[in-house]
Amino acid sequence: MNRAEARIDLERISANIKHLINLSGTPVMAVVKADAYGHGLVPVARAAVEAGATALGVALLEEALILREAGITAPILAWLVPPGSDFKLAVDNDIELAASSIMALEQIGAVKSSRRPRVHLEVDTGMTRGGFLNEWGKLDAHHVSNIEIVGIFSHFARADEPEQEQNDNQRDRFKEMVATLESFGYTNIIRHLSNSAATLRDKDSRFDMVRAGIAIYGLTPDVDNLGASESLGLKPVMQLRAKLHLVKTVPANSPVGYGATAHTTAETKLGVVAMGYADGIPRIAKDAGVFINGKKAPIIGRVSMDQFVVDLGADSTAVSGEWVIVFGDGSHGEYTADDWGAASLSINYEIVTRIGPRVPRIYAPHIY
Ligand SMILES: *Cc1c(COP(=O)(O)O)cnc(C)c1O
Repeated sequence: MNRAEARIDLERISANIKHLINLSGTPVMAVVKADAYGHGLVPVARAAVEAGATALGVALLEEALILREAGITAPILAWLVPPGSDFKLAVDNDIELAASSIMALEQIGAVKSSRRPRVHLEVDTGMTRGGFLNEWGKLDAHHVSNIEIVGIFSHFARADEPEQEQNDNQRDRFKEMVATLESFGYTNIIRHLSNSAATLRDKDSRFDMVRAGIAIYGLTPDVDNLGASESLGLKPVMQLRAKLHLVKTVPANSPVGYGATAHTTAETKLGVVAMGYADGIPRIAKDAGVFINGKKAPIIGRVSMDQFVVDLGADSTAVSGEWVIVFGDGSHGEYTADDWGAASLSINYEIVTRIGPRVPRIYAPHIY
């Protein structure tokens, strides 16, 4: 029996994908990089394609190859495959590549394969991370002579802050860069700009496809600016549970954990939860905790590598060996991935993505 598990409800992946397709009226690329944000690459990818996702997006070539080895035939775009990579392996496996430099285009164009390389040009519209910027003006036909240009895309820096003018500036710049490409005769390519936040909030940026990551996992891109998942019509997919390794009564003024950073204020029952920072529970987490018997039990003291301690309260009826909910969709009053993000000076993305490989993923509905 597991001492901890991440329960992944794939029906919710399906519901979230369908919601995004309906809402946007646009084909959806399901972003499944980083082990599908910790939810499990292959099962999530399969569920997403079955639910109607048009394509899959990953960062790494390795991720794309795992999908192909699993027999998934949907279009796959990998956007973080640097020069020097095995581009032939990508092309042979029908994996579409992003290119953001002339060097990358030259290397991809030099691949000898029975297939023609398929490329999406990534352009920098103002995030100043990936994408063509100064080299855009130098691009000409011979750089792409052996390549099929399938699409053009860019990425928003502040789509989770819909009021920010930078979003309009990036969209305008994107249109200009698309127009340049069209002037070279590429008129039938897939233009894509929106991440989850823009898919949910910015009708003007949907173009021919949207790339949705966090929203397919049922999580809000920004709980403060965009609202909670539920208000966006999204269903959180991951529920994280762990066993209480030990429940015991301790006296008032007991120092708890490494560094004795917390003390009990009265006699109470403490629970030792069998998860720690090796499993992705942030060591700095404060003001989060677990949920058991209808109430929250907050963390007390520092999170250790394999365990952390919660204050169950003197009246708790919890016993050693019971399950607690670390986070869920919040529907029963439990902590959410948003709460854990806020409690760790981070965001829900990092919380779910860093749940470690020691924690089995169980593909089944949530349990309360
Ligand atoms: C991760 C990523 C996305 C998905 O972003 P979300 O905010 O999770 O929707 C989309 N596009 C690119 C290029 C990405 O790297």
